[in-house]
Amino acid sequence: MAMRFSILGSGSSGNCALLVTENARVLIDAGFSARRTNELLEAVGESLARIDAVFLTHEHGDHAAGIEGLKKFPGIRIFANSATARAVQSGLEHRPDWQIFQTGARFRFRDLEVESFAVPHDAQEPVGFRFSSGQEGDMFAPRRSMAWLTDLGYAPENVRQCIRECEVVVVESNHCSEMLKNDSRRPWPTKQRISGRHGHLSNHAASELVATVASPRWRRIYLTHLSRECNSRAAVELAFAAVRSTLTGCEFAIVEQGQSTAFYDLA
Ligand SMILES: [Zn+2]
Ligand SMILES: [Zn+2]
Repeated sequence: MAMRFSILGSGSSGNCALLVTENARVLIDAGFSARRTNELLEAVGESLARIDAVFLTHEHGDHAAGIEGLKKFPGIRIFANSATARAVQSGLEHRPDWQIFQTGARFRFRDLEVESFAVPHDAQEPVGFRFSSGQEGDMFAPRRSMAWLTDLGYAPENVRQCIRECEVVVVESNHCSEMLKNDSRRPWPTKQRISGRHGHLSNHAASELVATVASPRWRRIYLTHLSRECNSRAAVELAFAAVRSTLTGCEFAIVEQGQSTAFYDLA
């Protein structure tokens, strides 16, 4: 097995996923309280005490609010670029074991190869990740990759390149443009921010991204970070219906708010 993967939760109330390889147990983002994260981990047979590191995409609360509570676990290393670390640190009372990387650099953590790439979003220096493990040609642990791509206003060429070379892609399908337009609770500037170049991918934008990249390597795509008020499973299904019928070798999983996914074994 090259890696196992479970999304513990996704959306504006918190984002966190667990990635397990032979020698590493890491979280991608920490948007839930430590207590909630531990509950979610226990539901898949894991616990915070066994986590080695957290990889942060950006400082927004739904991705980083759990860092404060991790002070009880000083052994957990927190990987982030310096702008994100600075922004998160300003709200903390303790100093986590920061491991600073440069956006765009490729580095190793145990048996994980990590690449970060810049994404357009209204944060200090937001990134997406690609995690790879295993060796090309190894029968027992072949090289496998997973891309993590949430919180971006649009997908530039570097992002498209990055997700092409993966077996699993996690991408946000944040809102239905019609539902956002008709939403009466959000003021106009908020709607502008969400749908703008540094906001979030709409269902349509996410399906366009998937349809244009359409990599034969893909095995599974997770559609995540769904807005509770301005999106629905039905709207996501409708937006992806056409591309799903062309990508027959690839499974699609819609992850709604409040949902966790079972472990996916990327063998
Ligand atoms: Zn977010
Ligand atoms: Zn964000």
